[in-house]
Amino acid sequence: MKAILVINSGSSSIKYRFFQIDTYSVLASGFIDKIGESESRLRHAWQNEENKYEEIVETRHVPDHRNGFDWIVDVSTKTLPQGKKADLFAIGHRVVHGGEVFSEPTLIDDNVIAAIRQMIPLAPLHNPANLTGIEVARERRPDAPQVAVFDTAFHQTIPPAAFRYALPRNLYTGHHVRRYGFHGTSHHYVAKKAAEHLGRPLGTLNLITLHLGNGASATAIRDGKSIDTSMGMTPMEGLVMGTRCGDIDPAILFYLGRTTGRTFEELEMMLNHESGLKGICGVNDMREIIRRARSGDGNAQLAIEIYCYRVRKYVGAYFAVLGQVDALVFTGGIGENAALIRMLCCKALECLGIVIDSRKNEASSPGVSEIQGEKGAVRILVIPANEELEIARQTCDVILRGR
Ligand code: ADP
Repeated sequence: MKAILVINSGSSSIKYRFFQIDTYSVLASGFIDKIGESESRLRHAWQNEENKYEEIVETRHVPDHRNGFDWIVDVSTKTLPQGKKADLFAIGHRVVHGGEVFSEPTLIDDNVIAAIRQMIPLAPLHNPANLTGIEVARERRPDAPQVAVFDTAFHQTIPPAAFRYALPRNLYTGHHVRRYGFHGTSHHYVAKKAAEHLGRPLGTLNLITLHLGNGASATAIRDGKSIDTSMGMTPMEGLVMGTRCGDIDPAILFYLGRTTGRTFEELEMMLNHESGLKGICGVNDMREIIRRARSGDGNAQLAIEIYCYRVRKYVGAYFAVLGQVDALVFTGGIGENAALIRMLCCKALECLGIVIDSRKNEASSPGVSEIQGEKGAVRILVIPANEELEIARQTCDVILRGR
């Protein structure tokens, strides 16, 4: 059975999913994390003969990504029943930073690898890990064409007025300092799903999409194209996130450097890992924060208020930018599952035609759901994120287009 393997390679993890090529049903999926540590965790699920999923979980040492990749191919070959053996058609890789070079998914060759490597200074944590995944997959499966799908690509349509910072010009021309935006594959995927659901071509739609997961970002989409997004040069800007601060006054850093003597590395660590929801109330898991807020924890209540206030500010700003909005889309772990957060993100936005129906908002349903009230001019959609599926589709499109 022809399959596409989607790989998301992190510094010490590999997440993967095998899709059957024509139906895009998931043949197998799983992850390995803590690669290089003494006890790596491996989880693999696969579709058996009755189309039900079975799962194995293992703990053992996986020394490196090469070893991890071999395990993935091996365990998939062993577990998938005869009629569903994955004959690799192509491999799609998530790549975080494509800079200004890549505005589309791209067939990987040596030049593409060199370009991704050049972008390492822009994404020092992510691009090297993504490259490791690509190199191992190419080495182990040289027969399978490989495609890079970039997190930044969808946002390459953002105009200069929105992507340039008010900084000395040579920081852009000489140092690539600009807004790139991230989560592009997810924003693009839910935008297409919204178009499908509304029965209109994506190119005729204005949308505000909110990806609210551990990381969080908002995107303004005009006529199907991203024209602004809340993450910036790095994923730190914009909305409040699990452990990232989002927008802050940059002068706070100079103040802290002067008064506490903290180094750049310490400050970066704090803004990335000790801030956001966790910084305000001590935890970053929204389920736990809601539970604490409901039992009277003032810090958890404030964390939710700050989080939703920031989302509302962005929705208001993007409304002003777009002029007219067909739909507001919620996705990501929080956007899909936290009715309370959706409700607070829409609070007092009736003036913009954004009115949530609390009963529809509370009713959880699989797939796309609509939760606006009767008086709302803007459709409010909840759409499950599926970046892996989008990567698989884009990978397939690139290969078929090239033939
Ligand atoms: P990632 O960005 O790592 O892919 P997810 O999109 O899975 O993250 O989102 C993780 C966030 O979603 C966590 O803060 C988690 O608490 C939150 N979340 C998941 N389910 C729920 C739920 N039922 N209610 C509230 N928050 C939830």
